[in-house]
Amino acid sequence: MTRPVLIPILGDQLSFSLSALQDVDKSDARLLMMEVAQETTYVPHHRKKIAFILAAMRHHAAALRDAGWQVDYVELDDPDNTGSFGGEIGRAVTRHDPLRIRVTEPGEWRVLEILRGLEAEHNLPLDILPDSRFLCSHKEFASWAEGRKQLRMEYFYREMRRKTGLLMEGDEPAGGRWNFDSENRKPADTDLFMPRPLDVEPDATTRAVLELVEARFPDGFGTLTPFRFAVTTEDAEKALERFIDEALPRFGDYQDAMLTGEKYLYHSVLSPYINAGLLDPLHVCRKAEQAFLDGDVPLNSAEGFIRQIIGWREYVRGIYWLKMPDYAGANHFGASRPLPDFYWSAETKMACLREVIGQTRDEAYAHHIQRLMVTGNFALIAGIDPHQVHEWYLSVYADAFEWVELPNTVGMSQFADGGLLASKPYAASGNYINKMSDHCRNCAYDVKDRTGENACPFNALYWDFLIRNREKLGANPRLAQPYRTWDRMSAETRKDYLNAAARSLKRLEAGKL
Ligand SMILES: Cc1cc2nc3c(=O)[nH]c(=O)nc-3n(C[C@H](O)[C@H](O)[C@H](O)COP(=O)(O)OP(=O)(O)OC[C@H]3O[C@@H](n4cnc5c(N)ncnc54)[C@H](O)[C@@H]3O)c2cc1C
Ligand code: SF4
Repeated sequence: MTRPVLIPILGDQLSFSLSALQDVDKSDARLLMMEVAQETTYVPHHRKKIAFILAAMRHHAAALRDAGWQVDYVELDDPDNTGSFGGEIGRAVTRHDPLRIRVTEPGEWRVLEILRGLEAEHNLPLDILPDSRFLCSHKEFASWAEGRKQLRMEYFYREMRRKTGLLMEGDEPAGGRWNFDSENRKPADTDLFMPRPLDVEPDATTRAVLELVEARFPDGFGTLTPFRFAVTTEDAEKALERFIDEALPRFGDYQDAMLTGEKYLYHSVLSPYINAGLLDPLHVCRKAEQAFLDGDVPLNSAEGFIRQIIGWREYVRGIYWLKMPDYAGANHFGASRPLPDFYWSAETKMACLREVIGQTRDEAYAHHIQRLMVTGNFALIAGIDPHQVHEWYLSVYADAFEWVELPNTVGMSQFADGGLLASKPYAASGNYINKMSDHCRNCAYDVKDRTGENACPFNALYWDFLIRNREKLGANPRLAQPYRTWDRMSAETRKDYLNAAARSLKRLEAGKL
C-alpha cells in the first residue's frame, strides 16, 4: 500500500478551492478535520460562533466525502480526542504513516507555529502552501509596503482594483472616482420593509452540534438559539443572493448608520461565510459588480461594498502577517484599565453600548460602525487595555479570526499600533453617535449635556483622551482642529471636562456607568 499524503483542513478552510487540495490524487490523500478543545477555549468564544464553525466543518466533511475524498473527522466529544491540533495530527500520523503532511497556511500566527513544530516532531516533510483564496500574497503586500513612510488602505485598494479589474473602465475607475465614501454617511430611518439576512433552519447535523455546544459550554458567553447561520456553501450562496437583491442597493447610503432594534440594516452579514471559506471573496465582489453593471445597484453601494473586501479585508491581512508576532502586544498609549464587566453583561445605563453589546450577545454579530464607533470608541477613550479589548472581539463575533480581528481592533479601533494602520484614532464624542443613530433618545444620559451630572460620558471622555495623549497625538495633522478647539476653551470649561471625565471613570470602576 502506498503511504498517503496527510492533509489537515482547519475550521476556516472550508473551500473546495483550497490550495492544499489542488494537484493531489484523491486516492493518495487522507484529509484530517479536527474539532479540538484547545481551539474552542483559548478565548471564551461566543457559543454561536463555536456552533457555526463546528456545524460548517461537519457539513463540509460530508461534501468532501461526497466528492470522493477520504476524510478522517474527529468530533469534539470523541473519547480519544487529545484536544489539540498537535495531538490529533500526531494520532493521524500513527494511523496512516503518511509520506508527508500538506497544509494550506493557517490564518493565525499561533497555529502556524504549532504546524511548523510538527516537521521536527514527526520527522516528516511538511509543505505549507499559500492561501490562494486571498488576492494579495504576503510577498506582494510586503513589497507594496516596503519603503512607504505611511501605509494607507486607499492606495493599496487602488492596486487591488487594477489587479482584479473590478469596477474599472480601462485604466480608470468606474464613475471617475476610486472612492464614494463621502456619499455613504446618511443616518437611517425605520423602514417597515427593511431587508433581513437569510435565516437557515438548522438540519439534523446542525441540531446535533447545537446540543453538543449546549452540553459542553452551558455557561459560555452568548445566546445559542435561535441559530440562523448558513453552514453550507449552497446556503451561504443563497444569503449572498438575498443580500445583493435586497440590501446592497442601499448599503452605500446607510453604511455608517445605526438604529435601535435594527441589527443588520443594509449590511451583508456575509463575513462568517467568507472567513470560514464557504464563500469566495472575489466571487462575492464579482456578483456585486454585476449587479451594478446590470443597473440594479448604484455605484456608491457597489464600490463601498467591494472596497471592504478587496481593500480593507486584504489590507488588514497584509498588516497582520507583516507585523506579527509583535503586533498582538502593541499598546501605543500604555492603556491599562480592565475591560468593564458590561462588555459581557450589557448592563450599563449607556443605551448605545447596551444595544450593541446586547445584540452581540444574542447574534454573535454587530456591523462595522457598531464595533468601531460604539464598543471600540468607548474602550479607546476610556483607556482600556487593548489586549483585553482584542480578546473580547476575538471571542464574541462569529466572523472573528485573529488575522482579521487583531488589526481591526489593535490598529483601527484602538490605535494601539501608533498609526500604522489608520491615520487617526477613531475617537468621537456622543455627538457622532447621536448623528448616526437614534440611541441617545432612549438613554439615561443627555447627549447635549457636556459636563453635568447627567452628561453623556462620551463627551468628556473624548476630550480627556485627547489631552491625556497629547504628547503622542499633538503633531497629528488630522487632529489639529480638535486641539485648536481645546486651546480656545476657557480654563474653567477645560477643568469641567476633565472633572466630568474623572467622574465617569470613577463610576466605571464602581460598575455604575
Ligand atoms: C474592532 C473591530 C473588530 C473587527 N473584527 C472583525 C473580525 O473579527 N472579523 C471580520 O471579518 N471583520 C471584523 N471587523 C470588520 C467589520 O466590522 C466586519 O467585517 C463586518 O462588520 C462584518 O459584517 P458584514 O458581513 O455585515 O459586513 P459588510 O458591512 O456587509 O461588509 C462586507 C464585507 O466586507 C468585509 N469587511 C468589511 N469591513 C472590513 C474590515 N474592516 N476588515 C476586514 N474585512 C472587512 C467583510 O468580509 C464583510 O463581510 C472588525 C471591525 C472592528 C472595528
Ligand atoms: S447619550 Fe451618550 S451614552 Fe447615551 S446613547 Fe447617546 S452617545 Fe451613548
